[in-house]
Amino acid sequence: MSKRTLGQLEGVRLDGQRVVVRVDFNVPMANGLVTDDTRVRASLPTITYLRERGARVVLLSHLGRPKSAGDPKYSLRPVVRVLEGLLGLPVTFLEDPTSEASVGIVRHLPRGGVALGENTRYYPGEEQNDAALAARFAALGDMYVNDAFGSAHRAHASTEAIAHLLKPAVAGFLMEKELRFLGEAVNQPVRPLVAILGGAKISGKIDLIAALLPKVDHVLIGGAMACTFFKAMGLETGLSLVELDKVDLARQLLADAGAKLVLPTDAVIAQQLEGGVPTRTVPRDAIPVGWAMYDIGAASVAQFAAIISGARTVVWNGPMGVFETKPFDAGTMGVALALAATTRTGAITIVGGGDSAAAIAAAGLENQVSHVSTGGGASLEFLEGKELPGVAALDDA
Ligand code: ADP
Ligand code: MG
Repeated sequence: MSKRTLGQLEGVRLDGQRVVVRVDFNVPMANGLVTDDTRVRASLPTITYLRERGARVVLLSHLGRPKSAGDPKYSLRPVVRVLEGLLGLPVTFLEDPTSEASVGIVRHLPRGGVALGENTRYYPGEEQNDAALAARFAALGDMYVNDAFGSAHRAHASTEAIAHLLKPAVAGFLMEKELRFLGEAVNQPVRPLVAILGGAKISGKIDLIAALLPKVDHVLIGGAMACTFFKAMGLETGLSLVELDKVDLARQLLADAGAKLVLPTDAVIAQQLEGGVPTRTVPRDAIPVGWAMYDIGAASVAQFAAIISGARTVVWNGPMGVFETKPFDAGTMGVALALAATTRTGAITIVGGGDSAAAIAAAGLENQVSHVSTGGGASLEFLEGKELPGVAALDDA
C-alpha cells in the first residue's frame, strides 16, 4: 500500500499551518557537540519545502536511549546550533515539548519559523506508544509529517500514535525516498537482483536471508557470517567467529538456495585481530587451527565484483570483513568499488545498515551509489518484508 506524501498535498493549505515533523536527529555526539550532521542535512528538503510554503515547522526526534528523563547527555539542544547553521535562521528550542508553554511558543512562531523539541524519549510514554503522550505532541501541530525512516520500525508515541491524531499524516521527502528505493529493489527490481550480505552475525540477519532468497538472483555472503556456512560445509574455521547454534540453519539455507548462494572462496586470516599483524590469504578449506578469518580474499572480491558488474539492482547490507581494522578493510573496499562501478553503468545500488553506510563513507563512495539508507534496523526490517508501524500509520495515497 503506498502512502500519501508531502508532495501529494495539493489543495491542503500549508500557509500559516503548524506542522509537526518527526525527524531522525539521532546524531552522534561527543562532549556535547554533534560530530556528524548527515542526518540533520537529510531532513532539510522537507523542512525547506514547508518553510517556503509559509508553514510553522515543529521538529520532534529522539536521541539515543536515555535511562532517565532529562539526562543531559541525551539532550537535543546541541542540534539547535547545527540546524541554525544549515538553515541560516534562528531555531527555537522547546525544553519540554509536552508543556502548555510549548504550545504557546509554537503559536507565536513566524510563518516559516522552526522549533525543535527536546528528546521524545525523555517521556516515559514514548516507547510505550502512549496515546496521552501522543496527544500532547499532537497539540503542537495542525498536521503531521513523518520523515524519520530510521525510527519507523518502532511503534512509538511520536512515530505511530501521533499519526492517528494529526491529519493529514504524510511521509516526508526522505521517508518517501527510502520507501521508493528499498521498495522497488525488492518488489519490482530490474534484474538481475543481487544481494550482498555480511557483518558479524548470521543470527541478526537470518530473516533477511530467508526473505531475500526467493526474490534475488544471487546472494553473496561475506563477513563472519560466511564462517558459519563454512562450518556447515564441514570446513575447519579455526578461531573465526562462528555461531554454533546456527550451523544447522546455515546447512538448510545452503540446501534451499543452491547456486543462488555464493560464498567466498578464499579468506584473509590472522592469529589475532590487530592492525598490522601478519596475515595470510588461504583457500576457504585451508583455515588453520589457531587462525581466524577477518576478511574475504582477493579471489572472492574478484568473483563478487564480476557478479555485481552483471547486476542491474544491488542491495548491500553488512561489511565483508572487520573493515575498522586495516588490512581487513580490503574486501569491503573492493565490494564498495564494484558497487560504484556498476552504478556508473546504470545499475541501481542501495546500501543499508549502519556499519555498511560507515564503510561506504570511509571509502569516499557514498555519492557514487544510488542510495545509502539512513535507517539501519528499519531498512533491515523493510527488506525482510515486515510492515513498519511508523509507515503503516500514515495516510494511504
Ligand atoms: P551493518 O551495521 O551494516 O548492518 P553489522 O552490524 O551486521 O553491519 O556488522 C558489522 C560488523 O561486522 C563490523 O563491526 C565488522 O567488524 C564485523 N565483521 C565483519 N566481518 C567479520 C569477521 N570476519 N569477523 C568478525 N567480525 C566481522
Ligand atoms: Mg551494525
